[in-house]
Amino acid sequence: MKLHHISSSMMFVNTYILMDEQAGEAAVIDPGFMNPELFTFLESCPCKVKYIIATHGHGDHVGLIGDVKKRFGGEVAIHEADAHFLTSGAAMKMFAQAGLNFENVAPDILLKHGDHLKVGSIDLEVIHTPGHTKGGICLKAAPYLFTGDTLFFNDIGRTDFEGGSMEEMRHSLQVVLASIEEDLEVLPGHEDFSTLAHEKANNPYFKAV
Ligand SMILES: [Zn+2]
Ligand SMILES: [Zn+2]
Repeated sequence: MKLHHISSSMMFVNTYILMDEQAGEAAVIDPGFMNPELFTFLESCPCKVKYIIATHGHGDHVGLIGDVKKRFGGEVAIHEADAHFLTSGAAMKMFAQAGLNFENVAPDILLKHGDHLKVGSIDLEVIHTPGHTKGGICLKAAPYLFTGDTLFFNDIGRTDFEGGSMEEMRHSLQVVLASIEEDLEVLPGHEDFSTLAHEKANNPYFKAV
């Protein structure tokens, strides 16, 4: 298993490419919305894109999904509760005002909690963690945990956007993620990496109030 990370300069969105080089397969997690480095990487990547996975439907994470699919193929996967972001134009509303236009794209796979996606021999487990959006997910491929905008280093994603809920967020952290016993590297949708053990010990949102 090999992991490539790109931090795009705009909004510090993290894009991850997870590869099984032996099997020649890759998954792109959150392609971002302004990320020329991703295309440069994929052009010389020996692996075929099998999946393009969105941790949730916000435009800063999914804007380039259609372009990646058109140029490199791959099935678009998003949690069923966030699929409407990709098909309704909602994902890109805030960016249209900035003159950025992205086409809608129909998801190929609607994800649910407990689903598994196989990339070569890599197993990606879908963990539904609503709170930032209704269909926010984390993806577990030990030793990695991709946390989207659910969990950041010492912080969490905003819960005041449409579909957000602090109550659901607390459940996602204090019940769902807290039940993962092994320590994993936390790879969030923005900014710095962390570990699950560090977040359980230090992140105030993991503590019940
Ligand atoms: Zn978001
Ligand atoms: Zn975000």
